[in-house]
Amino acid sequence: ATTFTYQFDTPSFKGTSTFETGVYIDGKFRDGAKGTTIDVVNPATGKLITKVAEATKADVDAAVIAAQKAFDTAWGLKVPGSQRCLLMNKLADLMEAHADELAHLEALDNGKTLFWAKNADILGSIQTMRYYAALAQTISGQTMETDESKMCYTRHEPIGVVGQIIPWNFPLLMMCWKICPALATGNTIVLKPSELTPLTALRMAGLIKQAGFPDGVVNILIGYGPVAGAAIAEHMDIEKVAFTGSTLVGRKIMAAAANSNLKDTTLELGGKSPSIIYDDADLDQAVKWAVHGIFWNQGQSCIANSRIYVQSGIYDKFVYAFTAAAKARALGDPMAPTTEQGPQVSQGQFGVRLLLPYPLWSSLTEHAAHHGLHRIGRLRRRYAALRWPAPRLRGLLHPADALHGHDALDGHRARGEIFGPMGVIVKFGHPAEVIKVANDTKYGLVAAVFTENLKRGIETANALKAGTITVNGCNNPDPKAPFGGYKQSGIVRELGENALRHYTAVKAVHLNLGFRWP
Ligand code: NAD
Repeated sequence: ATTFTYQFDTPSFKGTSTFETGVYIDGKFRDGAKGTTIDVVNPATGKLITKVAEATKADVDAAVIAAQKAFDTAWGLKVPGSQRCLLMNKLADLMEAHADELAHLEALDNGKTLFWAKNADILGSIQTMRYYAALAQTISGQTMETDESKMCYTRHEPIGVVGQIIPWNFPLLMMCWKICPALATGNTIVLKPSELTPLTALRMAGLIKQAGFPDGVVNILIGYGPVAGAAIAEHMDIEKVAFTGSTLVGRKIMAAAANSNLKDTTLELGGKSPSIIYDDADLDQAVKWAVHGIFWNQGQSCIANSRIYVQSGIYDKFVYAFTAAAKARALGDPMAPTTEQGPQVSQGQFGVRLLLPYPLWSSLTEHAAHHGLHRIGRLRRRYAALRWPAPRLRGLLHPADALHGHDALDGHRARGEIFGPMGVIVKFGHPAEVIKVANDTKYGLVAAVFTENLKRGIETANALKAGTITVNGCNNPDPKAPFGGYKQSGIVRELGENALRHYTAVKAVHLNLGFRWP
C-alpha cells in the first residue's frame, strides 16, 4: 500500500488530497500479490500522477474469500435493511463532505471538465447512494393465497458475493450505479474499476471504511481486464457478475460466466444512439441538446447521441447552427472553469478511436468522400494550455466534429460506436422513414426525439427500440428510472427499483398447515 498525495489549487478547492491506495481487501490496503503496479496518467498533460498496485487472479481469490466471510458474518441476512440504509446515508454524507475533492480527482484522472465532474458524476453518485439507501428498507416478499391447509411466502435474499466490472468514462458514477443496489440488498462486492481511472474508487474505499461498513463488504481491485476482470468473470464462488463496458468485452463476460458456474450476468454495453429532430422542434433548444448529446464527456458516453437525424424542412438551418455551436466549444484544461471539452481519456482511446487508421474511422471518411458528404471539422484547435509528451498528437484534445450530407450515411459502415466527439448528421423526409433507419442498428441503449407535438413525441418514443427515450432532451439519466439496453446494448435494466430484482434471489417457502397423508 502507498499514500497518494496531490495538491489542488482551483477556486473551488485549494487543498491536498491524501489517501492510501493499493489492493483493497477486507478493509485494508495491501500490495498486489504479484507486486506490480499500474501507471495512472493525467490525460491533460501526459504526466504520471501516481502508480497503484495491480490486482491479479490471486488478489481476486483473496477478495472473494473476504467478501464471503463478510457476507456470512457481518452483512447479508445478518444486517437488517434499516442498518444498511443508515450506513449508506452516512457514506452519502461523507461523499457530500468530500464532493469537491472527489470532483477534482475525477477531472484529474479522466480529463472530464471539473464542472461536469461535480454536477453530473459526483452529484449523480450521491443521489444514487441516497436513493438506494431508502430502498434498502423496502425489500420484502409476498404472501401467496393458497388454501386453508397451506401457506406460501417469498423471501428476497441477497445473492452473496457479486463481482462488478466498470469502465473509465464515469468512474465514480458507474461505481455507485453498481455498488448501491448491491449494498442495499445485502450483497458483498468485489469491484474492479478501470485501470485507466482508479483514483475516485480508491478514495471511496477510505470513505466506506469511515462510514462504518464492515470489512470485506466492499473490496476494490485495480487491475487489467483480461487478468483481474477475467478472474472475476470466471470465478466459481462469485454468484453474479455485473458489467458495464464494450459489447465486445460483454460477450466475453457472458461466455466466462457460462463456462464457469453459470453465474447470473447483467450487462450494460455500448450504443450508437439516435437523436430525431422534427421540423416543428424548437430549433435553438434542439441544437443545444444535440451538441450536448454527442459532445458531452468528450463523446465518451455510452448514451452519446451520435446519429442525428434532422427533418428536411430545418436541415440546413440545423447544420449551420450545430456547426457554429460545435466550433464555439472551448477545448482545453479540464480544471479551467471556462472549458467545455477536455482531453480524451488516454492516448490509446485518442489514437485508436479518433486519429490513427481505424477501420471504422477510415471507412467512415472514405464513405463520406465518396458520397460528397461534409465534415464540420478540422476545426480550430486550442492546444495552448496542454502539452502532451508526444508532440505529434498535440495533446489529447479532439475538436467537436461531425459528418453531414443528404444521403442516409447510416450505411453499414457508420454503425460502430466511435466513443469520441464525432457525430453524423443525416437528413430525413417522412417520420416513418426515420423510425426505420433509427432502429436499424445492433444497439438500442437510448434515443432522443425533438418535437413540439406531444402526440408525435409519444408515437416516436413508442416506435423506437431503445431502453431509454427522452423527448426534448437527452443524456440525463435518473437513478429512479430503469436504465439499460435493447438488443446488443445490454441485458436487463440497472437503476430504479428494478435493479433490486437483479441483486436478490427469490425463495418461495411453502408451509403445510394441515394436510396429512391418510
Ligand atoms: P471495456 O469493455 O474495454 O472495459 C470495461 C471494463 O472491462 C474495464 O474495467 C476493463 O478493464 C474490463 N475488461 C476489459 N477486458 C476484459 C475481459 N476480457 N474480462 C473482464 N473484464 C475486462 O470498455 P471501456 O473502453 O472501459 O468503456 C467504454 C465502453 O463502455 C463503451 O463501449 C461504452 O458504450 C460502454 N459503456 C456502457 C455503459 C452503459 O451503461 N451501457 C456505460 C458506460 C460505458
